[in-house]
Amino acid sequence: MDYNGEVRACNFSRDSKKFGNLLEDQYDAIFGQKANFQFRNAPSPGGAECEGCSYYFYCSGCFVKAFMVSESEYPACPWRKKWFEGMSLSRDASPELPGRKLLPLLIQPTPPTPGHCGCSG
Ligand code: SF4
Repeated sequence: MDYNGEVRACNFSRDSKKFGNLLEDQYDAIFGQKANFQFRNAPSPGGAECEGCSYYFYCSGCFVKAFMVSESEYPACPWRKKWFEGMSLSRDASPELPGRKLLPLLIQPTPPTPGHCGCSG
């Protein structure tokens, strides 16, 4: 939650999906959303789906970094597909910031080899 009551997946994803505002919305409207269940149920990146992935040391333990990678450089990310199928963290991005990524990638890892992580891409 940030200073004005907006609830997001993570404080490091300031431009990303807003689940609601604690000063304006009912508790259930914010925390009863499917997206909240997905976040509660998903393991941190770095588990079985991530074995052998070139982004392992970047994403491991950080949902936001894994979302950045899967929304930019590696859309076939198997962790993302398994736990967050159809969900985008950037869908509520501010209209005045078109095309802005969640955060700049801090490293430029080598794209995964096709077939790694059990994907075809
Ligand atoms: S890109 Fe996806 S599969 Fe690779 S380490 Fe990150 S979350 Fe795991």
